[in-house]
Amino acid sequence: MKTIVIASSNPGKLREFSTLLAPFEFIAVPQTELGVTDADEPYATFIENALTKARHASHVTGLPALADDSGLCVPVLGGAPGVFSARYAGEPKSDQYNNEKLIAALKGHTDRRAFYYSVLVLVMHADDPHPVFADGEWHGEIIDVPRGISGFGYDPYFWVPEQGRTAAELPEDIKNRMSHRGLAMQQLTKKLQQLVINGR
Ligand code: IMP
Repeated sequence: MKTIVIASSNPGKLREFSTLLAPFEFIAVPQTELGVTDADEPYATFIENALTKARHASHVTGLPALADDSGLCVPVLGGAPGVFSARYAGEPKSDQYNNEKLIAALKGHTDRRAFYYSVLVLVMHADDPHPVFADGEWHGEIIDVPRGISGFGYDPYFWVPEQGRTAAELPEDIKNRMSHRGLAMQQLTKKLQQLVINGR
């Protein structure tokens, strides 16, 4: 078994990544257990931030590293909250204030389309010239009145048309299958299978 460092300390994500990586003989270890502190995420794009986090974790530990970055993008707002999704309304981060700011920003807009985005980046070493990328998008609409109590973040306001309910009203297994993160994970699994075939 090979060890891979996970550049996240979110327990839910760590569980999902461990399950994903186990068939590929990777043991997933959170970066906090290896003394890695959070990398800065100064970039304007998800992919740059995820790559930076993966490289940083790999550089500090000397191990392969997997990082992710995600958020909500609203095209009519120029892609906001985007990479600032967690702290859209400032510090300390608050889902309630983020949602209030989002609804205020959308006041008077009839185009309510939005999508969640998730990107995963795996580097085999800190100078890996060919990182593995996987990503996923989950499209919906932002509604003004919250519905549902599951999930987190913007989920009570994220309407999923084909389900006729918000992300916060979906059972966890359905959300995991449809979501940006779920789709990115499925794509990463396929890419890892290909890597094994190619002997990388
Ligand atoms: P992170 O990539 O886990 O740090 O997520 C960044 C932010 O994007 C979160 O704090 C949420 O505000 C938002 N976000 C990402 N994924 C989801 C989701 O599945 N539901 C609701 N909000 C999300």
